[in-house]
Amino acid sequence: MDHEKFMRIAIALSQHNVEKGLGGPFGAVVVKDGEIVAQSANRVVPDNDPTAHAEVAAIRLACKELNTFDLSGCYIYASCEPCPMCLGAIYWARIDKLFYANTKHDAANIGFDDEFIYQELALKMDDRKIDHEQLMRDEALAVFKLWDKDGNKQSY
Ligand SMILES: [Zn+2]
Repeated sequence: MDHEKFMRIAIALSQHNVEKGLGGPFGAVVVKDGEIVAQSANRVVPDNDPTAHAEVAAIRLACKELNTFDLSGCYIYASCEPCPMCLGAIYWARIDKLFYANTKHDAANIGFDDEFIYQELALKMDDRKIDHEQLMRDEALAVFKLWDKDGNKQSY
C-alpha cells in the first residue's frame, strides 16, 4: 500500500485549512483495503466544536460511510501525532494502524500544546489542574447494573 500517498493527502488537507483560514493545520485520512473511506481537516473553528479534530472528524465520517462503530481493518493517516482525545478515539474505533507525520512536539512549538494533557494524564486525579468531585455514585451504579443484566445489549 502506498502509505505516502495517503499521508500526502492528510498533509494537503492540513495545508488547505491554513491557506483558506479554516482552522488548525491538521488533516486525517481513513483508509480500508487501499481505498480512502473518509478524510477531514480540523473543523474546530468552523463547527464551533472543540472535539472536531481532524482524526475524530475523519473517524466519524468513516463510521457513517461504513455504517459501523468498528473500524477494524482500517488505517488512519494523521498529519500530526494525535492528541490524547484523538488517540483515545483511534483505540475506541479499533483502527489497525496509525501513521503520523508531525510530532506532538512540533505541534507544541506552534502553540498546540496537547503535551500538557499527556502530562496531566500521568498525574493522580488530585494533582490535575481540572477540578473534579464525585457525586451520586449509587444512582449511576444502578444504571450500570441494569446494563450488565440486559440480555439485548450490543457490546462495543
Ligand atoms: Zn486531537
